[in-house]
Amino acid sequence: MKNLLLLIVLLFSVVQYAQNKLYRAEEEKVNNLVHTKLKVEFNFEKSQLNGEAWITLTPHFYPTNKVVLDAKSFSIHEVMVNSTKGNFNYSDDELTIELDKTYEKGEEYTIYVKYTANPEEVKQKGGKAIQDAKGLYFIDPKEEDPTKPTQVWTQGETESSSCWFPTIDSPNQKTSQEIYMTVPDKFVTLSNGTLKSKTNNNNGTRTDYWKMDQKHAPYLFFIGAGDFSIVKDSWNGIDVEYYVEKEYESVAKEIFGNTPEMMTYFSNITGIKYPWDKFSQIVVRDYVSGAMENTTAVVHGEGAQQKKGQLIDNNEWEGTIAHELFHHWFGDLVTSESWSNLTVNESFATYSVYLWFAHKYGKDKADAHMYDDVQTYLQSQSEDKDLVRFYYKDKELMFDPVSYHKGNAILHMLRDYLGDEAFFQGLNTYLKEHMYGTAEVHDLRLALEKISGKDLNWFFNQWYFGNGHIKLNVTYDYNTINKTVTVNINQREKSFKFPLSIDIYEESNKISHEVWVDDNQNSFTFSYYRLPKLIIIDAKHVLLAEISDKKTLENYIYQYKNATHYLDRRIAIEEISEHQQTSKEAFNTITKALKDPYYELRVLALEKIDLFQKYNKKEAIYKIENLAKNDNSTLVKAAALNVLGKLVDPIYKSLFERGMLSESYAMVGSSLISLYQIDKSGALNKMSNLDNDIKENLAESITTIYISEKDKTKLPFIARHVLKGMFLTQNNRTQQLYSEAFKWIAESDNKEAITNLTDDFVQLGLRYKRFNFDKMAVNMLNQMVGTQRLSSNSNKDELILILKTGMAKLLE
Ligand SMILES: [Zn+2]
Repeated sequence: MKNLLLLIVLLFSVVQYAQNKLYRAEEEKVNNLVHTKLKVEFNFEKSQLNGEAWITLTPHFYPTNKVVLDAKSFSIHEVMVNSTKGNFNYSDDELTIELDKTYEKGEEYTIYVKYTANPEEVKQKGGKAIQDAKGLYFIDPKEEDPTKPTQVWTQGETESSSCWFPTIDSPNQKTSQEIYMTVPDKFVTLSNGTLKSKTNNNNGTRTDYWKMDQKHAPYLFFIGAGDFSIVKDSWNGIDVEYYVEKEYESVAKEIFGNTPEMMTYFSNITGIKYPWDKFSQIVVRDYVSGAMENTTAVVHGEGAQQKKGQLIDNNEWEGTIAHELFHHWFGDLVTSESWSNLTVNESFATYSVYLWFAHKYGKDKADAHMYDDVQTYLQSQSEDKDLVRFYYKDKELMFDPVSYHKGNAILHMLRDYLGDEAFFQGLNTYLKEHMYGTAEVHDLRLALEKISGKDLNWFFNQWYFGNGHIKLNVTYDYNTINKTVTVNINQREKSFKFPLSIDIYEESNKISHEVWVDDNQNSFTFSYYRLPKLIIIDAKHVLLAEISDKKTLENYIYQYKNATHYLDRRIAIEEISEHQQTSKEAFNTITKALKDPYYELRVLALEKIDLFQKYNKKEAIYKIENLAKNDNSTLVKAAALNVLGKLVDPIYKSLFERGMLSESYAMVGSSLISLYQIDKSGALNKMSNLDNDIKENLAESITTIYISEKDKTKLPFIARHVLKGMFLTQNNRTQQLYSEAFKWIAESDNKEAITNLTDDFVQLGLRYKRFNFDKMAVNMLNQMVGTQRLSSNSNKDELILILKTGMAKLLE
């Protein structure tokens, strides 16, 4: 699973810290699933599923005459054991069935259940309705909403597959499956495995038969139906398909088209050819998470569906595509035996994005991505959490920046320590030994130890069964008579053990050293020929560490010019840019960085360059014009157009006007803002002529202009983007802009804008209850009520009623 609501998690997870001290063991296996056969049809009128299930099981070890199946909010119509009527008890979402005799290990029996699943009635243990664990979701089932297609889809992880079929809903169970799914004729269907047949029922419905012989865990089951275009691709003779809404058919290959190449790459690095019989990806509406790795039937949230103008700038979804695909080895083929060990699924899926980016686009892009992931972990206030956690309040909370982002960084360290060959051979051994089965973290350690011959207990105890990360203070003592430098490494808090790379630069010469740090205080002395220009600690940038060492501006300038790692360049640009007012050399270095080989660093240099200082900036401006016209990345072009806009020079008018005709949304957005600085009415005119699709995607630029125009008639448009801008982005400027917009709307008398904003609060609040977003939404709506009370708006009573109705829905 890929969680895209990280910011919400970061903001609101603090409240959830109170840990319930219950030991979360692997689920005991009494009976094991063997095979699951289902016949299902949907009742769109009632948002229900009518089903028949044939569940084949066998005792795990000890003989038994009883089986307990999970079945959440079902109406049970009939139960049979091996075709004879069975005695059963259904309570607390569990179906307990007496078997016709005592069964021995290996002896199979089949339970038949005829049932109706009521996903709308799924309750949490406390009795509170939860919107995000219904398992089965009906989108606009009665075709009432003209803006939404009718769809049905499922979300099994963590334990919600039992909301639509009876099963043992635990990740340490595995079963093969066959599903007969009856749907209205006009719909297409998707499930795990292969579509074996389609049968017309001559009553406006059709029954599709899907089958998968390989076993997988119940949470990976998927069924979906709706009006989708299926775009066909292939890999090594198997079908690869992209299910998208019709409107996105023409760009589906631009969004998903790297999938076959990823399948080849991941097959190569794991040494295991993609182990399933097809690979489909489907984009659904109102999805409850980012994406989900259902075996051979991956679900993506609608964010995957991007317009051509966005894709030209950057396919934002490519990392997610890699993540879900890599789960088909780590998660689907070998499954974490319990949620406590989730790292063996999620850390690998997260790390696959690094691996794919490095392979496909080079190390800079991968390192940039890793840097962002590490920042996410560092800001998440989760230093007290172990990667493997046997104590947690709610299993959903395992899907956090520790299991994902930190685990990703830990795998990167482990790979560096073992070397590529041992690391990937170790992964191959781990996968082979546990194929179609389950594993825990010790299995991973044993496989890597087996291949490398190294003991890894110290590493796993420190990083998997311990918490926190490395924090270093570094100081240097120079002895100019002996020509030595002593590097003092001081661990600020916990004492970690790790190999440390140190690069010492003397003029144009670099000498690399590798040392071991194994104490709170360690000192290492190196001799030199010429006084070092720069020393870089953790020169390979592989440690999950916060390192503080004092460097001068000269050090950073030297660093930008000589050190090659993405992070060395990035940090140097950030530090140097602070000194452009006082140092010509600093300004010149930022000017040089406009030509950095990596596009995101060119964008950074453009964002940082200061053209309002005393030094000659002719060369810089010339370079920026050049980037605006000729760079091979539209994001760089857009950033350059932005900078030129700040010069408020009419000479660029035609450049901005041309930019507005670009296919790239980023370029249109920055051209618009820049044009607005020099020709307000011209820009407003061009803006009103943009088509609605582009407007939606340029909401931020357009909102900036509306706010500066104080155009109150546009509040309803702005309102629809406020929550996303405030909470679902990590960009500070965007957050600030929309916080301002929020305030403006809160004070306004615009009924449509207040209604739009309230609706969004209610929708997101209910959808993301598990992150306490509902409580936050109530607070903010309440704040708006307070603002209205104090206002002199003539319709404030009506507005307050809208806000209070929203609050009531959230508090239901
Ligand atoms: Zn995942």
